[in-house]
Amino acid sequence: MIVKIDSMGRLTVPKKFRNEFNLKPESEANMLPLPDGTGVSLFRLVPRCANCGEEKGLEKFENISLCRNCRRVLKYALK
Ligand SMILES: [Zn+2]
Repeated sequence: MIVKIDSMGRLTVPKKFRNEFNLKPESEANMLPLPDGTGVSLFRLVPRCANCGEEKGLEKFENISLCRNCRRVLKYALK
């Protein structure tokens, strides 16, 4: 699929790919150069719990993303 970079250096990820890879507004992605230097790859970043790696029930605790269970354990430990 051919896309154009606009005058500000932005490019639009086609809707087909946004849907296929669950890219939503404000999603974070990592753009890395290909080893052969011919282009870049875009990887969606999946938010995970900083402690156990869980993807669901995340909330910030002191600016760190933690799942519900890890927040509960930490709050209990801090009492
Ligand atoms: Zn966790």
